[in-house]
Amino acid sequence: SKQVYTFGGGANHDDPRTRDKTIVGGKGANLAEMAGIGLPVPPGFTITTEECVAYLASGADFSAELRGEVATALTHIEAAVGKRFGNAADPLLVSVRSGARVSMPGMMDTVLNLGLNDATVEGLAKTSGDDRFAWDSYRRFIQMYSDVVLGIAHHLFEDALETVKEDNGFYTDVEMEADHWRALVAEYKDIVAKELGRPFPQDVNEQLWGAIQAVFDSWDSDRAKVYRRLNDIPGDWGTAVNVQAMVFGNMGDTSATGVAFTRDPATGERAYYGEWLVNAQGEDVVAGIRTPQYLTRDAREKANAKPLSMEEAMPEAYGELARVFDLLELHYKDMQDIEFTVERGKLWMLQTRSGKRTAKAALRMAVEMVGEGLIDEATAVRRIDPMALDQLLHPTLDPQAPRDVLGKGLPASPGAASGAIVLDADTAEHRAELGEAVILVRVETSPEDIHGMHAAKGVLTARGGMTSHAAVVARGMGRPCVSGASSISIDMASRTLKIGQRSLKEGDVITLDGATGDIMAGQVPTIEPELVGDFGTLMAWADQHRRMKVRANAETPNDCRMARQFGAEGVGLCRTEHMFFDAGRISAVRQMILAEDEAGRRAALDKLLPEQRADFRAIFEVMAGLPVTIRLLDPPLHEFLPHGDAEFAELSETIGIGVETLKRRAGELHEFNPMLGHRGCRLGITFPEIYEMQARAIFEAACDVAAASGEAVVPEVMIPLVATKRELEILRALVDRTAAKVFEEKGATLEYLVGTMIELPRAALMAGEIAEEARFFSFGTNDLTQTTLGVSRDDAARFLSPYVEQGIYPRDPFVSLDIEGVGQLVSLAAERGRATRPDIKLGICGEHGGDPASIAFCEAQKLDYVSASPYRVPIARLAAAQAAL
Ligand code: ADP
Ligand code: MG
Ligand code: MG
Repeated sequence: SKQVYTFGGGANHDDPRTRDKTIVGGKGANLAEMAGIGLPVPPGFTITTEECVAYLASGADFSAELRGEVATALTHIEAAVGKRFGNAADPLLVSVRSGARVSMPGMMDTVLNLGLNDATVEGLAKTSGDDRFAWDSYRRFIQMYSDVVLGIAHHLFEDALETVKEDNGFYTDVEMEADHWRALVAEYKDIVAKELGRPFPQDVNEQLWGAIQAVFDSWDSDRAKVYRRLNDIPGDWGTAVNVQAMVFGNMGDTSATGVAFTRDPATGERAYYGEWLVNAQGEDVVAGIRTPQYLTRDAREKANAKPLSMEEAMPEAYGELARVFDLLELHYKDMQDIEFTVERGKLWMLQTRSGKRTAKAALRMAVEMVGEGLIDEATAVRRIDPMALDQLLHPTLDPQAPRDVLGKGLPASPGAASGAIVLDADTAEHRAELGEAVILVRVETSPEDIHGMHAAKGVLTARGGMTSHAAVVARGMGRPCVSGASSISIDMASRTLKIGQRSLKEGDVITLDGATGDIMAGQVPTIEPELVGDFGTLMAWADQHRRMKVRANAETPNDCRMARQFGAEGVGLCRTEHMFFDAGRISAVRQMILAEDEAGRRAALDKLLPEQRADFRAIFEVMAGLPVTIRLLDPPLHEFLPHGDAEFAELSETIGIGVETLKRRAGELHEFNPMLGHRGCRLGITFPEIYEMQARAIFEAACDVAAASGEAVVPEVMIPLVATKRELEILRALVDRTAAKVFEEKGATLEYLVGTMIELPRAALMAGEIAEEARFFSFGTNDLTQTTLGVSRDDAARFLSPYVEQGIYPRDPFVSLDIEGVGQLVSLAAERGRATRPDIKLGICGEHGGDPASIAFCEAQKLDYVSASPYRVPIARLAAAQAAL
């Protein structure tokens, strides 16, 4: 099939391949599209991405067919423009531009003014009547071509230009006259001859094919490969090459060039937004050689700037441009990012594409475009990237404020926070209770630090990756976190720390930016998120299209409140272990786990019961009317053990058991592989009194809150780490017995469900049988991923990145569900569970419940709900709507 397609200049764009980004690349497709709707596009042609792939596969050989097609396409440009390529009297000049399916930094830079040589430059000077313009264009061409195609260092040319300017006492390029440029061209040619060992190519066809080759080759450049890897772009797409007749923005004061957006990409405001330069060529605007000027009079006046806007300086061309903006928006039904050039008063369009925008702007534009009748609500919902909402949900640093950056770590959990440095969890809790904002700084965190992380405004660790304990827990809590900041060293003895070269002490105020990983000295002002306005409008549209419910993983009344604010429709996972770590309770917990017998355990549990009841009561109060899934105790008991002699002595004092006995018991609890050890429902089987106490606390609290509030309280009791039906049978009976007892004591009754997490492969396989005992399944995909992949999440940081880099896993399987593998277990368990119990409630409560790709999978499995951390609830609502659309 054809590999070269012409556009503009009356070319025929009927073949759908001419507008297919996968074939002609994004730039090529949009140039053809613009020409097709009658906009002024300089004529040109595009060589397909398929040809690039074939060229690279063939070992860098151009086929005879390609040479033929290019020659024919070139005659199309020549005819349209009325000039011939290489004609010394009146030469056609072209640009050579790369263009992959998606815009890709790392690809070859554009070469402008190709077709100039010692002969054609004279012709250009004559036909344009402008010597200066011709020689300036030639020197630009030599410089660009040498840099981009011939690989000669850019600075050699810059240095030569500087020397000429210095010799003449010039400050700017504008002062250079025709003869200066002519002399510089001679110097440039000398530089090329010296660096290359042969003269600058004078044959225009050699120039053209050299540039085409450079574009193709740049697909496999290191820069491009790195960019592809970071952005999940397949290596076999290839890039297209666009060859296009030059138009000149540097032909004097009636010529100009600029870039523009059809709406403000930062705020979303419906106002043309852009920059332009008189008498300049394309790259000048971005290169910063001269300061670009405002496009509109409004923008200029707002900024109080002097130089005339394009609207004022070139009213006719500007009017034409504004008309094009409106046409483009009508056609693409989206905000466009545009490049244009004005040659002697005539406007030419050189590029258009959907413009990048901030999350805030994306919302405003989507909502306003619905209002304008440009798009419908479903399109608006589909258009917002759910993950981009994250930018809007956390307080963010005021971009205007100065920053004194001390160091950098990984952007582990977004948001910004300032506070006094504290070096341990207890101090964090203590100082926070006194009303101080604190940042918990640790080498790394463990489950014992959770109360401190809760108390802190932000968390900073020296070790650990994006899936470290600190990162996962902080994301769950909505605390900003910077992890793995290896330039930090902490000295606990003197309670000081160093970040890079700077010394700090506990109590010093720092600021974290969880979105960039920056650690800053002092307090940087923040701005609060806004959940109303466009955000509220768009979320309401999303909710209309959503089928799955969205719940939150929340375990404190505060988290629950936050979750409701964000629109959660229940709690999908309330972990109970953190409640055991609270400062006032840990000794009762330790007493319980170190007790020698049931009586000892019951004595300790009696102390915990009222505390747990209060916990649940507070949560039920906030969540009244909505279901709350409470997971009974899950982690291995040894996580609660005392550390160090001091803690043992203190505990011995409190509970009256000798230190030696305590240490022996603690030793007995040691496990080699706690993740697969004495945890989850295994605790309930061996120490039923623990689960019994928790169940009693749940039902007593539920009855109390129901009586007081008059609203339905819907507890869903969830048994973790079940592998067999028998486990659940035993524990469900225990929960039912306890419920019956409480209801009898209270003289009240309420609806509740008992169900299980599906987090072991065996449970997924045996789901049909387990469903006989379970009213609901909640897929615990964190553990299900660990147990299916045989990968410990906490140890995975070291090898997961290389695994992802080498494509062994397409993405971090703890961030985005391994749909191929783990996904099979989910769909199989859903199917088998439903076969036994058609109305079984199915949900997911792993980290994946907040990941859009995983949410799409959950929709395909027709789960009833997803559950995500409170800050991810809006993301999940939007992603669930998109999945259902
Ligand atoms: P990028 O993808 O880096 O923006 P482009 O190919 O779009 O690269 O071009 C770089 C600059 O050169 C842009 O300002 C563009 O408008 C300008 N340009 C490209 N082709 C032409 C042309 N045929 N005539 C005039 N200017 C051009
Ligand atoms: Mg461009
Ligand atoms: Mg689990």
